[in-house]
Amino acid sequence: MGGFFGTVSKAGCVTDLFYGTDYNSHLGTRRGGMATYDAEKKLFTRSIHNLESTYFRTKFEDELDKFTGNSGIGIISDTDAQPIIINSHLGRFAIVTVAKIQNIDELENELLAQNMHFAELSSGKTNQTELIALLIIQGKNFVEGIENVYNRIKGSCSMLLLTEDGIIAARDKWGRTPIVIGRKDGAYAASSESSSFPNLDYEIDSYLGPGEIVRMRPDGLEQLRKPNEQMQICSFLWVYYGFPTSCYEGRNVEEVRFLSGLKMGQTDASEVDCACGIPDSGVGMALGYAEGKGVPYHRAIAKYTPTWPRSFTPSRQELRNLVAKMKLIPNRAMLQGKRVLFCDDSIVRGTQLRDNVKVLFDCGAREVHIRIACPPLIYACPFIGFTASRSDLELITRRIIKELEGDENKNLEKYATTGSPEYEKLVDVIRQRFGLNSLKFNTLETLVESIGLPKCKLCTHCFDGTGCF
Ligand code: SF4
Repeated sequence: MGGFFGTVSKAGCVTDLFYGTDYNSHLGTRRGGMATYDAEKKLFTRSIHNLESTYFRTKFEDELDKFTGNSGIGIISDTDAQPIIINSHLGRFAIVTVAKIQNIDELENELLAQNMHFAELSSGKTNQTELIALLIIQGKNFVEGIENVYNRIKGSCSMLLLTEDGIIAARDKWGRTPIVIGRKDGAYAASSESSSFPNLDYEIDSYLGPGEIVRMRPDGLEQLRKPNEQMQICSFLWVYYGFPTSCYEGRNVEEVRFLSGLKMGQTDASEVDCACGIPDSGVGMALGYAEGKGVPYHRAIAKYTPTWPRSFTPSRQELRNLVAKMKLIPNRAMLQGKRVLFCDDSIVRGTQLRDNVKVLFDCGAREVHIRIACPPLIYACPFIGFTASRSDLELITRRIIKELEGDENKNLEKYATTGSPEYEKLVDVIRQRFGLNSLKFNTLETLVESIGLPKCKLCTHCFDGTGCF
Protein backbone atom coordinates (compact mmCIF):
# COMPACT_ATOMS: atom_id res chain seq x y z
CA MET A 1 0.00 0.00 0.00
CA GLY A 2 2.48 2.66 1.19
CA GLY A 3 2.38 5.47 3.71
CA PHE A 4 3.44 9.11 3.69
CA PHE A 5 4.21 11.99 6.01
CA GLY A 6 4.57 15.70 5.35
CA THR A 7 5.28 18.62 7.63
CA VAL A 8 5.47 22.39 7.34
CA SER A 9 6.94 24.36 10.20
CA LYS A 10 8.19 27.76 11.33
CA ALA A 11 11.44 25.97 12.24
CA GLY A 12 13.48 23.37 10.35
CA CYS A 13 11.39 20.36 9.33
CA VAL A 14 14.01 17.67 8.72
CA THR A 15 13.95 15.82 12.05
CA ASP A 16 10.16 15.56 12.14
CA LEU A 17 10.08 14.57 8.49
CA PHE A 18 12.68 11.84 8.97
CA TYR A 19 11.02 10.22 12.00
CA GLY A 20 7.47 10.88 10.83
CA THR A 21 8.12 9.13 7.52
CA ASP A 22 9.89 6.27 9.29
CA TYR A 23 6.78 5.68 11.41
CA ASN A 24 4.98 4.68 8.19
CA SER A 25 7.48 1.88 7.51
CA HIS A 26 5.00 -0.95 8.20
CA LEU A 27 2.90 0.21 5.23
CA GLY A 28 5.45 -0.39 2.48
CA THR A 29 8.62 -2.28 1.76
CA ARG A 30 10.07 -1.28 -1.57
CA ARG A 31 11.25 2.31 -1.68
CA GLY A 32 11.65 5.26 0.61
CA GLY A 33 11.95 8.89 -0.38
CA MET A 34 12.08 12.40 1.08
CA ALA A 35 11.95 15.89 -0.41
CA THR A 36 12.33 19.24 1.32
CA TYR A 37 11.83 22.81 0.17
CA ASP A 38 14.12 25.58 1.37
CA ALA A 39 12.31 28.89 0.80
CA GLU A 40 15.44 31.03 1.40
CA LYS A 41 17.49 29.18 -1.19
CA LYS A 42 14.39 28.46 -3.32
CA LEU A 43 15.68 24.90 -3.44
CA PHE A 44 14.03 21.49 -3.58
CA THR A 45 16.18 18.60 -2.32
CA ARG A 46 15.20 15.00 -2.93
CA SER A 47 16.52 11.54 -2.20
CA ILE A 48 15.13 8.06 -2.95
CA HIS A 49 16.44 4.69 -1.78
CA ASN A 50 15.57 1.07 -2.31
CA LEU A 51 14.38 -0.44 0.98
CA GLU A 52 14.24 -4.08 -0.07
CA SER A 53 17.37 -4.98 1.85
CA THR A 54 17.34 -2.51 4.73
CA TYR A 55 15.24 0.01 6.61
CA PHE A 56 14.33 3.62 5.94
CA ARG A 57 16.30 5.12 8.86
CA THR A 58 19.47 3.20 7.97
CA LYS A 59 19.28 4.41 4.39
CA PHE A 60 18.59 8.08 5.10
CA GLU A 61 20.32 8.98 8.37
CA ASP A 62 23.77 9.56 6.83
CA GLU A 63 22.45 12.13 4.37
CA LEU A 64 20.12 14.15 6.58
CA ASP A 65 22.54 17.12 6.49
CA LYS A 66 21.84 17.69 2.82
CA PHE A 67 18.13 18.41 3.49
CA THR A 68 17.28 21.97 4.51
CA GLY A 69 14.11 24.02 4.80
CA ASN A 70 10.88 24.28 6.75
CA SER A 71 8.65 21.99 4.70
CA GLY A 72 9.03 18.48 3.42
CA ILE A 73 7.28 15.26 2.40
CA GLY A 74 8.37 11.62 2.72
CA ILE A 75 7.08 8.24 1.62
CA ILE A 76 7.50 4.55 2.21
CA SER A 77 6.29 3.05 -1.02
CA ASP A 78 5.34 -0.38 -2.28
CA THR A 79 5.45 0.82 -5.84
CA ASP A 80 7.40 3.53 -7.59
CA ALA A 81 10.37 5.69 -6.84
CA GLN A 82 9.01 8.87 -5.18
CA PRO A 83 8.87 11.86 -4.57
CA ILE A 84 8.71 13.18 -8.13
CA ILE A 85 9.69 16.84 -8.60
CA ILE A 86 7.94 18.73 -11.41
CA ASN A 87 8.34 22.21 -12.82
CA SER A 88 5.08 23.29 -14.43
CA HIS A 89 2.74 26.20 -15.13
CA LEU A 90 1.44 25.61 -11.57
CA GLY A 91 4.94 26.25 -10.24
CA ARG A 92 7.50 23.78 -8.93
CA PHE A 93 6.26 21.01 -6.67
CA ALA A 94 7.22 17.61 -5.30
CA ILE A 95 4.61 14.89 -5.00
CA VAL A 96 4.16 11.60 -3.14
CA THR A 97 1.17 9.29 -3.59
CA VAL A 98 -0.41 6.28 -1.95
CA ALA A 99 -2.21 5.00 -5.00
CA LYS A 100 -3.23 2.15 -7.19
CA ILE A 101 -4.18 2.93 -10.79
CA GLN A 102 -5.94 0.11 -12.56
CA ASN A 103 -6.25 1.96 -15.87
CA ILE A 104 -2.63 3.10 -16.01
CA ASP A 105 -2.04 1.82 -19.58
CA GLU A 106 -5.05 3.69 -20.94
CA LEU A 107 -4.06 6.94 -19.19
CA GLU A 108 -0.43 6.58 -20.27
CA ASN A 109 -1.43 6.20 -23.92
CA GLU A 110 -3.70 9.23 -23.70
CA LEU A 111 -0.98 11.40 -22.19
CA LEU A 112 1.58 10.25 -24.78
CA ALA A 113 -0.92 11.08 -27.52
CA GLN A 114 -1.07 14.60 -26.08
CA ASN A 115 2.73 14.87 -26.58
CA MET A 116 3.50 14.50 -22.88
CA HIS A 117 6.40 12.29 -21.81
CA PHE A 118 7.45 10.15 -18.85
CA ALA A 119 10.95 10.64 -17.49
CA GLU A 120 10.92 8.37 -14.42
CA LEU A 121 10.70 4.83 -15.70
CA SER A 122 11.07 2.55 -12.70
CA SER A 123 11.78 -1.11 -13.51
CA GLY A 124 10.93 -0.32 -17.12
CA LYS A 125 7.37 0.66 -16.20
CA THR A 126 5.68 4.03 -16.09
CA ASN A 127 5.97 5.60 -12.67
CA GLN A 128 2.37 6.05 -11.52
CA THR A 129 3.23 9.05 -9.32
CA GLU A 130 4.65 10.81 -12.38
CA LEU A 131 1.48 9.97 -14.29
CA ILE A 132 -0.57 11.49 -11.45
CA ALA A 133 1.63 14.62 -11.55
CA LEU A 134 0.99 14.93 -15.30
CA LEU A 135 -2.76 14.68 -14.70
CA ILE A 136 -2.48 17.42 -12.06
CA ILE A 137 -0.71 19.85 -14.35
CA GLN A 138 -3.55 19.52 -16.85
CA GLY A 139 -5.58 21.63 -14.40
CA LYS A 140 -5.64 25.44 -14.34
CA ASN A 141 -4.80 25.26 -10.65
CA PHE A 142 -3.91 22.56 -8.12
CA VAL A 143 -7.51 21.86 -7.12
CA GLU A 144 -8.66 21.45 -10.70
CA GLY A 145 -5.64 19.27 -11.40
CA ILE A 146 -6.29 17.01 -8.40
CA GLU A 147 -9.95 16.74 -9.36
CA ASN A 148 -8.73 15.63 -12.78
CA VAL A 149 -6.91 12.79 -10.99
CA TYR A 150 -10.04 11.95 -8.99
CA ASN A 151 -12.11 11.82 -12.17
CA ARG A 152 -9.69 9.96 -14.40
CA ILE A 153 -8.13 7.19 -12.38
CA LYS A 154 -9.74 3.87 -11.55
CA GLY A 155 -8.42 2.62 -8.22
CA SER A 156 -7.47 5.03 -5.48
CA CYS A 157 -5.12 7.92 -4.84
CA SER A 158 -4.22 10.00 -1.80
CA MET A 159 -1.37 12.47 -2.18
CA LEU A 160 0.83 15.16 -0.66
CA LEU A 161 2.21 18.01 -2.78
CA LEU A 162 5.14 20.02 -1.50
CA THR A 163 4.76 23.42 -3.14
CA GLU A 164 6.57 26.73 -2.81
CA ASP A 165 3.62 27.84 -0.67
CA GLY A 166 3.02 25.06 1.85
CA ILE A 167 1.92 21.46 1.50
CA ILE A 168 -1.29 20.40 -0.23
CA ALA A 169 -2.86 17.22 1.16
CA ALA A 170 -5.56 15.51 -0.90
CA ARG A 171 -7.34 12.35 0.20
CA ASP A 172 -8.64 9.73 -2.23
CA LYS A 173 -12.11 10.66 -3.52
CA TRP A 174 -13.69 7.59 -1.87
CA GLY A 175 -11.44 7.94 1.17
CA ARG A 176 -10.15 4.39 0.76
CA THR A 177 -6.81 5.42 2.25
CA PRO A 178 -6.65 7.88 5.16
CA ILE A 179 -4.88 11.18 5.76
CA VAL A 180 -4.68 12.47 9.32
CA ILE A 181 -3.69 16.06 10.07
CA GLY A 182 -1.53 16.78 13.13
CA ARG A 183 -0.80 20.11 14.78
CA LYS A 184 1.70 21.55 17.25
CA ASP A 185 2.99 25.03 18.01
CA GLY A 186 4.22 26.52 14.74
CA ALA A 187 3.81 23.36 12.66
CA TYR A 188 1.29 21.15 10.86
CA ALA A 189 1.76 17.60 9.61
CA ALA A 190 -0.19 15.17 7.43
CA SER A 191 0.28 11.44 7.74
CA SER A 192 -1.15 8.12 6.63
CA GLU A 193 -0.75 6.95 10.23
CA SER A 194 -1.59 9.04 13.29
CA SER A 195 0.90 6.88 15.22
CA SER A 196 3.56 9.16 13.67
CA PHE A 197 2.39 12.03 15.86
CA PRO A 198 2.75 11.45 19.64
CA ASN A 199 6.55 11.14 19.80
CA LEU A 200 6.93 14.23 17.60
CA ASP A 201 4.54 16.20 19.87
CA TYR A 202 1.74 16.60 17.31
CA GLU A 203 -1.90 16.31 18.39
CA ILE A 204 -4.49 14.99 15.96
CA ASP A 205 -6.13 18.06 14.45
CA SER A 206 -8.53 16.41 12.00
CA TYR A 207 -9.17 13.52 9.64
CA LEU A 208 -9.44 14.61 6.02
CA GLY A 209 -12.71 13.53 4.44
CA PRO A 210 -13.01 11.67 1.13
CA GLY A 211 -11.81 13.91 -1.70
CA GLU A 212 -11.03 16.76 0.70
CA ILE A 213 -8.09 18.98 -0.21
CA VAL A 214 -6.29 21.27 2.25
CA ARG A 215 -3.23 23.49 2.15
CA MET A 216 -1.03 23.40 5.27
CA ARG A 217 1.11 26.37 6.20
CA PRO A 218 2.98 26.67 9.53
CA ASP A 219 0.25 28.84 11.01
CA GLY A 220 -2.91 27.24 9.69
CA LEU A 221 -4.96 25.01 7.46
CA GLU A 222 -6.89 26.22 4.46
CA GLN A 223 -9.62 24.02 3.02
CA LEU A 224 -9.38 24.04 -0.79
CA ARG A 225 -12.05 21.45 -1.52
CA LYS A 226 -14.88 20.19 0.67
CA PRO A 227 -15.10 16.45 1.37
CA ASN A 228 -17.47 14.22 -0.58
CA GLU A 229 -20.40 12.82 1.35
CA GLN A 230 -19.88 9.20 0.44
CA MET A 231 -16.94 7.30 1.88
CA GLN A 232 -15.50 3.83 1.36
CA ILE A 233 -12.55 3.66 3.74
CA CYS A 234 -10.73 0.32 3.61
CA SER A 235 -11.96 -1.84 6.51
CA PHE A 236 -8.81 -3.93 6.19
CA LEU A 237 -6.83 -1.00 7.64
CA TRP A 238 -8.13 -1.95 11.08
CA VAL A 239 -7.65 -5.69 10.51
CA TYR A 240 -4.17 -5.82 9.04
CA TYR A 241 -2.44 -2.70 7.75
CA GLY A 242 -2.77 -0.28 10.63
CA PHE A 243 -0.33 0.25 13.47
CA PRO A 244 -2.03 -0.48 16.83
CA THR A 245 -1.79 3.11 18.10
CA SER A 246 -3.19 4.64 14.90
CA CYS A 247 -6.68 6.03 14.46
CA TYR A 248 -8.68 6.44 11.26
CA GLU A 249 -11.96 8.35 11.38
CA GLY A 250 -11.41 8.57 15.14
CA ARG A 251 -11.44 4.76 15.55
CA ASN A 252 -8.30 3.28 17.10
CA VAL A 253 -6.79 0.17 15.48
CA GLU A 254 -5.97 -1.71 18.70
CA GLU A 255 -9.40 -0.97 20.19
CA VAL A 256 -11.11 -2.34 17.09
CA ARG A 257 -8.96 -5.48 17.11
CA PHE A 258 -9.56 -5.99 20.85
CA LEU A 259 -13.30 -5.49 20.46
CA SER A 260 -13.59 -7.90 17.55
CA GLY A 261 -11.77 -10.55 19.63
CA LEU A 262 -13.86 -9.77 22.71
CA LYS A 263 -17.12 -10.20 20.81
CA MET A 264 -15.95 -13.47 19.32
CA GLY A 265 -14.67 -14.80 22.67
CA GLN A 266 -18.01 -14.00 24.34
CA THR A 267 -19.96 -16.16 21.91
CA ASP A 268 -17.47 -18.91 21.00
CA ALA A 269 -18.18 -22.38 22.39
CA SER A 270 -14.57 -23.59 22.03
CA GLU A 271 -12.90 -25.37 24.95
CA VAL A 272 -9.32 -24.20 25.07
CA ASP A 273 -6.59 -23.63 27.66
CA CYS A 274 -5.39 -20.24 26.41
CA ALA A 275 -5.67 -17.66 23.66
CA CYS A 276 -2.58 -16.50 21.73
CA GLY A 277 -1.96 -14.04 18.90
CA ILE A 278 0.10 -14.53 15.76
CA PRO A 279 2.38 -11.45 15.99
CA ASP A 280 1.82 -8.64 15.32
CA SER A 281 -1.65 -8.06 13.97
CA GLY A 282 -3.26 -11.09 15.70
CA VAL A 283 -2.26 -9.96 19.19
CA GLY A 284 -4.90 -7.26 19.81
CA MET A 285 -7.68 -9.64 18.80
CA ALA A 286 -6.26 -12.44 20.98
CA LEU A 287 -6.17 -10.16 24.03
CA GLY A 288 -9.84 -9.33 23.45
CA TYR A 289 -10.72 -12.97 22.80
CA ALA A 290 -9.02 -14.06 26.05
CA GLU A 291 -11.02 -11.50 28.01
CA GLY A 292 -14.30 -12.37 26.29
CA LYS A 293 -13.77 -16.10 26.70
CA GLY A 294 -12.34 -15.92 30.22
CA VAL A 295 -9.12 -17.83 29.39
CA PRO A 296 -5.53 -16.61 29.92
CA TYR A 297 -3.63 -14.84 27.15
CA HIS A 298 -0.32 -16.60 26.46
CA ARG A 299 2.58 -15.68 24.25
CA ALA A 300 3.21 -19.12 22.73
CA ILE A 301 4.80 -17.64 19.60
CA ALA A 302 7.13 -14.66 19.83
CA LYS A 303 8.46 -12.47 17.07
CA TYR A 304 12.22 -12.03 16.86
CA THR A 305 12.07 -8.24 17.09
CA PRO A 306 15.82 -7.39 17.09
CA THR A 307 16.02 -8.07 13.35
CA TRP A 308 12.39 -8.47 12.27
CA PRO A 309 10.94 -5.29 13.70
CA ARG A 310 8.22 -4.90 11.12
CA SER A 311 6.20 -6.77 8.58
CA PHE A 312 8.63 -7.42 5.76
CA THR A 313 7.15 -8.70 2.51
CA PRO A 314 9.69 -9.22 -0.25
CA SER A 315 8.25 -9.53 -3.74
CA ARG A 316 9.41 -13.15 -4.32
CA GLN A 317 7.02 -15.71 -2.84
CA GLU A 318 9.78 -18.16 -1.72
CA LEU A 319 11.54 -15.36 0.13
CA ARG A 320 8.25 -14.29 1.71
CA ASN A 321 7.68 -17.83 2.97
CA LEU A 322 11.19 -17.94 4.40
CA VAL A 323 10.74 -14.56 6.12
CA ALA A 324 7.36 -15.60 7.52
CA LYS A 325 8.95 -18.70 9.00
CA MET A 326 12.12 -17.16 10.37
CA LYS A 327 10.65 -14.17 12.17
CA LEU A 328 8.27 -16.14 14.43
CA ILE A 329 9.67 -18.47 17.09
CA PRO A 330 7.39 -20.98 18.83
CA ASN A 331 7.70 -21.50 22.57
CA ARG A 332 7.53 -25.23 23.28
CA ALA A 333 7.18 -24.61 27.03
CA MET A 334 3.88 -22.77 26.45
CA LEU A 335 2.55 -25.22 23.86
CA GLN A 336 3.32 -28.71 25.14
CA GLY A 337 0.12 -30.64 25.89
CA LYS A 338 -2.10 -27.52 25.58
CA ARG A 339 -5.31 -26.84 23.71
CA VAL A 340 -4.23 -23.55 22.13
CA LEU A 341 -6.37 -21.04 20.29
CA PHE A 342 -4.55 -18.65 17.98
CA CYS A 343 -5.95 -15.42 16.56
CA ASP A 344 -4.66 -14.13 13.22
CA ASP A 345 -5.63 -11.17 11.05
CA SER A 346 -6.65 -13.00 7.87
CA ILE A 347 -5.95 -15.94 5.58
CA VAL A 348 -4.76 -14.92 2.13
CA ARG A 349 -2.87 -17.72 0.40
CA GLY A 350 -2.77 -19.88 3.51
CA THR A 351 0.91 -20.82 3.19
CA GLN A 352 1.91 -18.93 6.31
CA LEU A 353 -0.88 -20.35 8.42
CA ARG A 354 -0.18 -23.91 7.28
CA ASP A 355 3.48 -23.54 8.35
CA ASN A 356 2.51 -21.99 11.68
CA VAL A 357 0.02 -24.76 12.47
CA LYS A 358 2.57 -27.47 11.66
CA VAL A 359 5.09 -25.84 13.99
CA LEU A 360 2.50 -25.67 16.79
CA PHE A 361 1.75 -29.40 16.56
CA ASP A 362 5.47 -30.19 16.19
CA CYS A 363 6.01 -28.33 19.47
CA GLY A 364 3.56 -30.59 21.27
CA ALA A 365 0.26 -28.63 21.14
CA ARG A 366 -2.58 -31.08 21.89
CA GLU A 367 -5.17 -29.13 19.92
CA VAL A 368 -4.87 -26.10 17.65
CA HIS A 369 -7.86 -23.80 17.08
CA ILE A 370 -7.66 -20.76 14.80
CA ARG A 371 -9.82 -17.62 14.91
CA ILE A 372 -9.59 -15.02 12.14
CA ALA A 373 -10.31 -11.33 12.67
CA CYS A 374 -12.27 -10.84 9.44
CA PRO A 375 -14.50 -12.91 7.14
CA PRO A 376 -12.88 -15.07 4.43
CA LEU A 377 -11.21 -13.01 1.68
CA ILE A 378 -13.23 -13.99 -1.39
CA TYR A 379 -12.46 -11.12 -3.79
CA ALA A 380 -9.03 -9.67 -4.68
CA CYS A 381 -8.60 -5.98 -3.86
CA PRO A 382 -8.90 -3.73 -6.92
CA PHE A 383 -8.52 -0.49 -4.99
CA ILE A 384 -5.41 -0.05 -2.88
CA GLY A 385 -2.81 -2.52 -4.05
CA PHE A 386 -3.22 -4.95 -1.17
CA THR A 387 -0.09 -6.76 -2.39
CA ALA A 388 -0.97 -10.13 -0.95
CA SER A 389 -4.07 -10.54 -3.13
CA ARG A 390 -3.27 -9.30 -6.58
CA SER A 391 -5.42 -11.86 -8.33
CA ASP A 392 -8.40 -13.95 -7.31
CA LEU A 393 -6.60 -17.27 -7.64
CA GLU A 394 -3.92 -16.21 -5.16
CA LEU A 395 -6.64 -16.45 -2.54
CA ILE A 396 -6.98 -19.86 -0.91
CA THR A 397 -10.77 -19.40 -0.91
CA ARG A 398 -10.91 -19.09 -4.71
CA ARG A 399 -8.65 -22.07 -5.24
CA ILE A 400 -10.94 -24.17 -3.06
CA ILE A 401 -14.06 -22.81 -4.78
CA LYS A 402 -12.48 -23.83 -8.09
CA GLU A 403 -11.90 -27.34 -6.73
CA LEU A 404 -15.46 -27.58 -5.41
CA GLU A 405 -17.31 -25.95 -8.28
CA GLY A 406 -14.94 -26.41 -11.23
CA ASP A 407 -14.97 -22.61 -11.62
CA GLU A 408 -13.41 -20.12 -9.21
CA ASN A 409 -16.12 -17.55 -10.00
CA LYS A 410 -19.17 -19.70 -9.30
CA ASN A 411 -21.56 -19.01 -6.40
CA LEU A 412 -19.26 -16.42 -4.85
CA GLU A 413 -22.12 -14.65 -3.06
CA LYS A 414 -23.09 -17.88 -1.36
CA TYR A 415 -19.52 -18.59 -0.27
CA ALA A 416 -19.34 -15.06 1.11
CA THR A 417 -22.52 -15.47 3.20
CA THR A 418 -21.77 -16.54 6.78
CA GLY A 419 -23.71 -19.64 7.73
CA SER A 420 -24.69 -20.71 4.19
CA PRO A 421 -23.94 -24.36 3.32
CA GLU A 422 -21.30 -23.15 0.83
CA TYR A 423 -19.64 -20.95 3.49
CA GLU A 424 -19.61 -23.81 6.02
CA LYS A 425 -18.11 -26.15 3.42
CA LEU A 426 -15.40 -23.64 2.50
CA VAL A 427 -14.41 -23.09 6.12
CA ASP A 428 -14.37 -26.83 6.78
CA VAL A 429 -12.17 -27.55 3.76
CA ILE A 430 -9.66 -24.92 4.96
CA ARG A 431 -9.80 -26.40 8.48
CA GLN A 432 -9.14 -29.92 7.20
CA ARG A 433 -6.38 -28.76 4.89
CA PHE A 434 -4.48 -27.26 7.83
CA GLY A 435 -5.28 -30.13 10.23
CA LEU A 436 -6.99 -27.76 12.68
CA ASN A 437 -9.27 -28.83 15.50
CA SER A 438 -11.49 -25.84 14.75
CA LEU A 439 -11.50 -22.75 12.53
CA LYS A 440 -13.77 -19.70 12.72
CA PHE A 441 -13.81 -16.38 10.92
CA ASN A 442 -15.29 -13.24 12.37
CA THR A 443 -18.56 -12.21 10.73
CA LEU A 444 -18.74 -9.05 8.68
CA GLU A 445 -21.35 -7.73 11.13
CA THR A 446 -18.95 -8.17 14.07
CA LEU A 447 -16.11 -6.54 12.16
CA VAL A 448 -18.28 -3.57 11.15
CA GLU A 449 -19.67 -3.22 14.70
CA SER A 450 -16.13 -3.29 16.10
CA ILE A 451 -14.97 -0.58 13.70
CA GLY A 452 -17.98 1.44 14.76
CA LEU A 453 -18.72 3.16 11.43
CA PRO A 454 -21.84 2.56 9.33
CA LYS A 455 -21.23 -0.24 6.82
CA CYS A 456 -22.04 2.11 3.93
CA LYS A 457 -18.97 4.17 4.85
CA LEU A 458 -16.62 1.16 4.75
CA CYS A 459 -15.12 -0.72 1.83
CA THR A 460 -15.76 -4.40 2.49
CA HIS A 461 -15.30 -5.49 -1.11
CA CYS A 462 -12.76 -8.24 -0.44
CA PHE A 463 -15.22 -9.97 1.90
CA ASP A 464 -18.58 -9.48 0.20
CA GLY A 465 -17.82 -8.15 -3.29
CA THR A 466 -19.73 -4.90 -2.71
CA GLY A 467 -18.30 -1.46 -3.28
CA CYS A 468 -18.22 1.57 -5.53
CA PHE A 469 -15.92 1.42 -8.54
S1 SF4 B 1 -11.10 -4.47 -1.25
FE1 SF4 B 1 -10.48 -4.98 0.85
S2 SF4 B 1 -8.30 -4.41 1.01
FE2 SF4 B 1 -9.16 -3.40 -0.82
S3 SF4 B 1 -9.82 -1.37 -0.14
FE3 SF4 B 1 -11.60 -2.70 0.03
S4 SF4 B 1 -11.54 -3.52 2.13
FE4 SF4 B 1 -9.53 -2.65 1.68
